[in-house]
Amino acid sequence: MKPAPFEYHRPTSLAETFDLLERYGDDGRILAGGQSLVPALNLRLATPRAVIDINRVPDLDAIRVTSDGLVIGALVRQETLERSALVREQAPLIAAALPHVGHAAIRARGTIGGSLALADPAAELPACVVALGATIRAQSRAGDRAISASDFFRGIYTTALGPGEVVTEIVVPRAGPGWRWGFQELARRHGDFALAGLAAGARVAGGTVEEARLVFFGVGTGPVRARRAEAALAGRPADADTLAVAGRALDGDLDPPGDVHGSPALRRHLARVILSRVVGRLAAGAA
Ligand SMILES: Cc1cc2nc3c(=O)[nH]c(=O)nc-3n(C[C@H](O)[C@H](O)[C@H](O)COP(=O)(O)OP(=O)(O)OC[C@H]3O[C@@H](n4cnc5c(N)ncnc54)[C@H](O)[C@@H]3O)c2cc1C
Repeated sequence: MKPAPFEYHRPTSLAETFDLLERYGDDGRILAGGQSLVPALNLRLATPRAVIDINRVPDLDAIRVTSDGLVIGALVRQETLERSALVREQAPLIAAALPHVGHAAIRARGTIGGSLALADPAAELPACVVALGATIRAQSRAGDRAISASDFFRGIYTTALGPGEVVTEIVVPRAGPGWRWGFQELARRHGDFALAGLAAGARVAGGTVEEARLVFFGVGTGPVRARRAEAALAGRPADADTLAVAGRALDGDLDPPGDVHGSPALRRHLARVILSRVVGRLAAGAA
């Protein structure tokens, strides 16, 4: 199919972007990498009056380290993140997740800001930013706002962004000593959206998980923090008994959907399997 007719605007500043967002309101859509928006236009799932292409807005595509941590511009391509030595060093969880995001051609155009703003419940990057305790910075004509990743995702394709707001940066705080990161997902084929996935961090000392952050994706309406399983792991050696207890606790954390790709029971089972694999590896010192 072809998209419904739309006006195309290519602003060269945030101020101009805010003008356009104000002019079109709900009838204007931001275009970043276009890897989700363009298929939606072509299928006429989205029929905005105007598409506002922010690719010429300067200063949104840098990766830098500041006193706040690693700062990633919203327009940084997923491929650039995947290849960045700074990301591997400062946010290895994101580096581990990226090869699972679609395929290379999609990552060549897709941006981190687009993935977060879209808020697909099966997407990898939203779970990573929640696990990392990141902050999402948004700007509008009214000013800047910093939204913690745990407050940003509000449901299926729904975020805390208000009208006229543009995601500008993602700030990943520096991890404290002893933190390790692990990522795994299970999908029918590599590059498919996950049936179940886990972005995890753990503070480990001598084989004991002192603190864990477990964020699942593909099993809910957005990234799901598994707090019961985290509590079951805390302060215990990550042996088979502890992992079994944490796996049972996970049942209270997750309420996965069923669809043509997998039943709720299958997704629960897969979530337990990856929990055990990822935490076992983190405790053993292998990410
Ligand atoms: C075949 C295929 C497979 C895929 N597989 C995966 C996968 O396995 N995992 C995964 O996570 N993704 C997957 N994707 C989606 C891909 O990762 C997209 O790149 C991503 O979801 C959106 O990023 P984008 O930059 O392309 O955003 P766009 O498509 O340009 O925009 C997406 C949405 O976000 C809004 N938006 C974009 N940038 C901003 C901003 N800075 N501020 C506010 N709103 C903004 C847009 O208005 C739009 O509503 C797949 C896509 C395809 C086509």
